[in-house]
Amino acid sequence: MDMIKPFEKKIWLSSPTMHGKEQEYIKEAIDTNWVSTVGKNIDEIERGLAEYVGVKYAVALSCGTAALHLAVKLAGERLYGMPKPNEGTLQGHRVFCADMTFDATVNPIAYEDGEAVFIDTEYDTWNMSPEALEKAFELYPDVRLVVLVHLYGTPAKIDEIKAICERHNALIIEDAAESLGATYKGKQTGTFGDYNAISFNGNKIITGSSGGMFLTDSKADAEKVRKWSTQSREAAPWYQHEEIGYNYRMSNIIAGVVRGQIPYLEEHIAQKKAIYGRYKEGFKDLPVTMNPYSPDSEPNFWLSCLLINPDAMCKQVRGDSEAAYIKESGKSCPTEILETLAKYNAEGRPIWKPMHLQPIYRTNPFVTKEGNGRANSNAYIAGDKPTDVGADIFARGLCLPSDNKMTPDEQDKVIEIVKSCFA
Ligand SMILES: *Cc1c(COP(=O)(O)O)cnc(C)c1O
Repeated sequence: MDMIKPFEKKIWLSSPTMHGKEQEYIKEAIDTNWVSTVGKNIDEIERGLAEYVGVKYAVALSCGTAALHLAVKLAGERLYGMPKPNEGTLQGHRVFCADMTFDATVNPIAYEDGEAVFIDTEYDTWNMSPEALEKAFELYPDVRLVVLVHLYGTPAKIDEIKAICERHNALIIEDAAESLGATYKGKQTGTFGDYNAISFNGNKIITGSSGGMFLTDSKADAEKVRKWSTQSREAAPWYQHEEIGYNYRMSNIIAGVVRGQIPYLEEHIAQKKAIYGRYKEGFKDLPVTMNPYSPDSEPNFWLSCLLINPDAMCKQVRGDSEAAYIKESGKSCPTEILETLAKYNAEGRPIWKPMHLQPIYRTNPFVTKEGNGRANSNAYIAGDKPTDVGADIFARGLCLPSDNKMTPDEQDKVIEIVKSCFA
């Protein structure tokens, strides 16, 4: 390892990749003075992405979180009726939500005054466990809404989850923020939910620097989202309002960046897939596995992750903001690997910390496939009793540098650095 020098240029987890066209579309918007929330770039990306993903309507918004918020609001209104101006549409109702995800998936439930019930993860795709979801409907039979995520670009067990939701008469919101371009049984993610959201945040597979989209086959829902996202203005000569509004529409400048990126989505996916394959091959003699996916699906390979086998984990403890470990020969842990990568100027990241372990959501219910997971999750020790799958993957897993501009030589070096942690 002494032979390996730190990277001169930082290796990122996942950074934006611009191709030149973005600047032309921004320039066109400025030259023609269409710089607000109307214009050709917006029209083009709404048309282009709806067609690519295979939905009838796409509404460009300021971010993926906004798309999720309006999705939750639509679902809430459909299920529980129109609220008073000072009430959220969920009005205290519970919503089942993927547990191992980014908090933007969950927060919109709170914006609308609902209570998230977190559903544990399964090992096959690192997404919502259908068994835990089934258990949750036994515990909370009144729930009518499920928020599903495709973590790191890997499709969840969609058929199983849809079947359970149909049986329990529940609607689905699909958070496809990380999975644009991924398919399940040949169909794009972002088409399976009653309401669907994607994101163009800076580190996603394609980016607008920011931005997001609401996807749907319902004309009425698309129109509603369009109206809500532009302050809920009624058709009148003055500002007339019958409903609460939001300033959530995408700018035509941002849309220019997205427009320039769309033709490169498949290239980015191919690059990310090659990175995943190279890691898989590079780590084949280590006591680790890569983030798995089902043969039914083709991920977009947004982030490559690894999971350390339980018997190859050295001791690691994590507090609310710090982590420590004890070095052991032949073993390692995410903390050691991440610290070592950082020492060599490469960026990895812990697995997204499950929501039921987050201080803000510590009192929300959490359901594992065995039932109520709250009873034992505070006493959880990695590899000890993995009934809490999310906590286990969080303890043993990490996201590897997955930047599509990383060269094969640079990636080989990352692989050597990871291997050195198991020496
Ligand atoms: C990025 C992300 C979001 C939010 O998208 P923004 O555009 O950043 O608001 C939502 N859910 C998941 C899973 C994400 O990764």
